[in-house]
Amino acid sequence: MTLNEQQKYPYRAPGSDVQSLKEALVYKLIFGLGCPPSEATKTNWLNAALLAVRDLAAERWLQTTLHLRRDHLRRVYYLSMEFLMGRALSNALIAEDVYDAMREALAELGQDINEIVAEEGDPGLGNGGLGRLAACFMDSLATLRIPAIGYGIRYEYGMFRQVIENGKQVEQPDTWTEQDIAWQFRRPSKRYTIRFGGNVHYQGEQCIWNNSEQITALAYDQIIPGFDTDVSDTLRLWWAHAGDVFNLGDFNKGDYFAAIEKQNTSENVSRVLYPDDSTTVGRELRLRQEYFLVSASVQDIVRRHLKENDDLTNLTDTIAIHLNDTHPVLAIPELMRILIDEYAIKWDDAWAACQKIFSYTNHTLMSEALESWPVEMIGRILPRHLQLIFEINEHFLSKLREQGMDDDFIRRVSIIDEEGGRRVRMAWLAVIGSHKVNGVAKIHSDLMVKSLFADFARLWPERFTNVTNGVTPRRWIALANPGLAQVLDRHIGKDWRRDLEQLAKLNPLKEDAAFRAEIRAVKLDNKRRLAEYIKDELGIKVNPEALFDVQIKRIHEYKRQLLNVLHIVSRYNQILKNPHGEWVPRVFIFAGKAASAYYAAKKIIHLINDVANVINNDGRIHDLIKVVFIPNYGVSLAQIIIPAADVSEQISLAGTEASGTSNMKFALNGALTVGTLDGANVEILNAVGEDNIFIFGNTVEQVEALRQRGYSPLLYLENDKELHETVMQITSGAFSPEEPSRYHENLHVFSDYYQVLADFRSYVEAQAHIDRRYRNQDKWVKSAIANIANMGYFSSDRSIADYARDIWRIQPLPDVRALTGKQREDGKPAVEAAKPAAAAPQKPKSRKH
Ligand SMILES: *Cc1c(COP(=O)(O)O)cnc(C)c1O
Repeated sequence: MTLNEQQKYPYRAPGSDVQSLKEALVYKLIFGLGCPPSEATKTNWLNAALLAVRDLAAERWLQTTLHLRRDHLRRVYYLSMEFLMGRALSNALIAEDVYDAMREALAELGQDINEIVAEEGDPGLGNGGLGRLAACFMDSLATLRIPAIGYGIRYEYGMFRQVIENGKQVEQPDTWTEQDIAWQFRRPSKRYTIRFGGNVHYQGEQCIWNNSEQITALAYDQIIPGFDTDVSDTLRLWWAHAGDVFNLGDFNKGDYFAAIEKQNTSENVSRVLYPDDSTTVGRELRLRQEYFLVSASVQDIVRRHLKENDDLTNLTDTIAIHLNDTHPVLAIPELMRILIDEYAIKWDDAWAACQKIFSYTNHTLMSEALESWPVEMIGRILPRHLQLIFEINEHFLSKLREQGMDDDFIRRVSIIDEEGGRRVRMAWLAVIGSHKVNGVAKIHSDLMVKSLFADFARLWPERFTNVTNGVTPRRWIALANPGLAQVLDRHIGKDWRRDLEQLAKLNPLKEDAAFRAEIRAVKLDNKRRLAEYIKDELGIKVNPEALFDVQIKRIHEYKRQLLNVLHIVSRYNQILKNPHGEWVPRVFIFAGKAASAYYAAKKIIHLINDVANVINNDGRIHDLIKVVFIPNYGVSLAQIIIPAADVSEQISLAGTEASGTSNMKFALNGALTVGTLDGANVEILNAVGEDNIFIFGNTVEQVEALRQRGYSPLLYLENDKELHETVMQITSGAFSPEEPSRYHENLHVFSDYYQVLADFRSYVEAQAHIDRRYRNQDKWVKSAIANIANMGYFSSDRSIADYARDIWRIQPLPDVRALTGKQREDGKPAVEAAKPAAAAPQKPKSRKH
């Protein structure tokens, strides 16, 4: 270890060769897990492997921390209610560059690495794109050597496990923590008190928050190993513990059971990912969770700063806090509270610091998804924070009044929405308290300043910016698609893992028939792998030579899985009418979870399964259509499905999908997109060229115009016989003969808020175009290569470089091996030491003695 640690405390560094790994595995089994190797289960081997590779990662992880501490460097804190990390073992093995060695070590011990890797469950600490983005960003932060800590919640029950029974989604608890023994470090000494409720009063200037209920947040740390670098970052997850309850009140009075009950209620705060939002208790729990996350994190951030610095004067030099959506926005009043109430800092100074420290990413413009909380509820649960929010608002609004803004403007930008029950608009608080606000794709960021934040953009145009999302090539190619990774390594070298723009070198290879054959062979292999999975899981046989048409994402009306289903049913009808037409055999693949209280989305899942059941069993169709719904969508499932896709369905109503990231993963793996001009699809179109993507449907402007005019779905039914027939079949029960009224009303096709019917015809035409292109395999594969070759921009490394430069003003760490005089193994010169960012001087402070 660097920084003289090893001289002072001699220890044997873990080795990464096959023999060392073998010894480490056996050692971990016996001494770490108390398990005789002869009796070890797959889970035991998995945990032994996790512990062994954690040893490899731990050294440089601590090294990074020591280095940061010594040099008082700036860090980024990424606050997110969700992190969808996926499996840890395989990722750590490639980050540590020991995948092959571990495979061999396990093989020599009689174990198959694929089985061991597959034994690990996905921690479901997120729901979809937002959580997965946070995970890709952690990977890129570490890989780019940017000092960062991600903060989240260690939910005991993450996202539910989805099973399909009789075509319907059934939710089962996901008990991931039962398996989670080995990868995380429990940090019993990192604990903070989190307070709820009570009341506030003033003692002179000093505000006192009294009589609150208290719980403890305990830290669990997960190493985020950067790829091919000496730096590691940290994901710190908070776990609620009601330990104090036992020391007080009921327990002393001898009421053991009352104490335990209280403990259970308090600990609920880290129990589930999405509390039931149909009840007040459930909504309150969600608010408590948000505050639990931010209070523990902000306390931790301030504590760390004070450990490394003399006082708080240089706080804005050392920390940047990023808010992933509005969920952690309470961090702003929480930091104000700590600065003002605990460190007696003046309001203006505290507020100026906040505005320098915070930045915020907006993820949705849909009004129904914008977060707001009743003033009454915040006042009850967080009385001091409500005061602070009012005060922030008052300062803000009085400035506007001084500037002569009219009442209507003031009403619109006020943090408090006075209409229909007073509510706190969290997005407004985020914008007012941050120095930068970004959207997640160009079109989304443009719409953001034109619609949702138009008033604020008038006040502060320079505050708004765009950072288009990205995905990590380590997980989404190297791990998910090893076949493609090998082909890339052979033709363009290995650097694409860290520099995805290298993929552009593939462009000329489109014309090389041998290269096209390689790409085709990889795709076919991946399709076989998926076909096998489908056979095993669902007992459905699909033909790997058929076109794999894939839509995997959360089930939501705006994402329009229904449009996909309408196309399938109409295609079915057309095939029956014209069985000898030139139909390309297709396998339609769906996966995704519906929120457990979202009735319409659950109906869509049911419909997909009903349609699958009828079509898959209709002998007249042969293999021309197969429909499969693969249950329990998650990161690991995505890793199997995406590399096998020929067509990527990105068909949300224009203006509704902020960015999308599965669109990027698919294109990167050589699938062709059929999509609307929505989110990042627009930028993918620009990157891959219009010949290599199938764009259809109304534009944002057309959607808006239709709404203005008064959208009329019936018009489309009257004017399109094929569509009419399709919709009538579904709603009259052709796919649910045992319950003909099943899809009578609740599919919302007759109100059609997301304008499915308006885009149907154009979608069916795009699908016909896809058939024609697929029949010309040479041309198809050229398009697939054009997709892969031009996706370099969509690496999350590029996104993070944008954030670091434009929003966080932070520089990468210098190569620690350079500091210690150790040569990089690849012989490349070590990178120059990081210079302080211009806007945020990082002068090492002289310490008092
Ligand atoms: C990438 C990803 C998403 C996001 O998918 P979208 O289609 O962009 O909504 C959601 N869930 C998982 C597991 C993912 O890997």
